[in-house]
Amino acid sequence: MQLHLDLKKLTMCKIEKLVRPNILNLLPYSSARDEFNGKEGIFLDANENPYGNLNRYPDPYQIELKTKLAQLKQTPLETIFIGNGSDEIIDLAFRIFCEPGKDKALTFSPTYGMYDVSAAINNVELLKIPLNDSFQIDLQKIIPFFMDASIKLLFICSPNNPTGNTIDSKAIEFILHNFKGIVIVDEAYIDFSKDASLLGLITTYTNLIISQTFSKAWGLAAARVGMAYANETIVSFYNKVKPPYNVSELNQKAALNALNNQNIFDENRSAILAEKQILKTELLKLNVVRNVYPSDANFLLVELENANEVYTYLVEQQVVVRNRTTQVKNCIRISVGTSEENQKLVTALKNRV
Ligand SMILES: *Cc1c(COP(=O)(O)O)cnc(C)c1O
Repeated sequence: MQLHLDLKKLTMCKIEKLVRPNILNLLPYSSARDEFNGKEGIFLDANENPYGNLNRYPDPYQIELKTKLAQLKQTPLETIFIGNGSDEIIDLAFRIFCEPGKDKALTFSPTYGMYDVSAAINNVELLKIPLNDSFQIDLQKIIPFFMDASIKLLFICSPNNPTGNTIDSKAIEFILHNFKGIVIVDEAYIDFSKDASLLGLITTYTNLIISQTFSKAWGLAAARVGMAYANETIVSFYNKVKPPYNVSELNQKAALNALNNQNIFDENRSAILAEKQILKTELLKLNVVRNVYPSDANFLLVELENANEVYTYLVEQQVVVRNRTTQVKNCIRISVGTSEENQKLVTALKNRV
């Protein structure tokens, strides 16, 4: 018991050492709902309008939504943070851990563009190590960076956007074990993957944040709801720094509604995965297509003879895909649509002269 307590204290110290001093000392905004959060009462404390349906401020800690997620993910409520999309989770990580103009972050390229943008907004240098030819992490290349104490954050996107593959979990564990900073594993596409989430590892590695989202498999990109799973200390810093009412009542309701209709989630996911296979087969029949990379996500990375030409042609046909040729030469990224949408894409490509 004593040992357990000491270990916990040690962990607390470790995380706190990584936190920016101004955030450690920050006195967070105390909202009216922080002081009293009972459901029953006469609420004359927050200058709200007494009339209407959306007149009250939402629950700042999204307890109903987190309770449901805690059940689904088998993790304590205290290990969950809800953000205004994963984008907020990424941005808050920079703000909690990286001193602008001084600390650094690291990721593996090609990957999701928001790490770059968020780093730049926060005036933090983002180092990039290229993934190998199989789009996996080259461990030899990362070892020298373990010595650099100014690297506070490390992003691993798995399944990776835009390459579509899941990153080898043994490589991720090697990094978690050896890297002294915070590791964010962005699992935006994990529900489409044959591989399991690494969520269970947050109890083993106190420097791990798992980021997921309602935007992809849950079909709620418009609602802007992302979630981070991490140990309680990290979550408490996220709560300290976030805007008090960062997730609107409408968005919390939308996410809860999705969780209460798991059958729709399952049906849509199965349909998307089946359509992905059909689309891949159809694409591989076309002369213009050189390669379709394996995908654990709801998109395909497709190598063409000339990505720029095909991209421009498709836009003219009112079919919009993502040109990724600057990241992976001559590649476009195609999101899996409905059967009709995918067929229109394939037909457009077939009709190209
Ligand atoms: C789409 C995507 C997200 C989702 O971001 P939200 O802000 O939650 O919509 C996160 N990470 C990656 C890698 C993505 O491709």
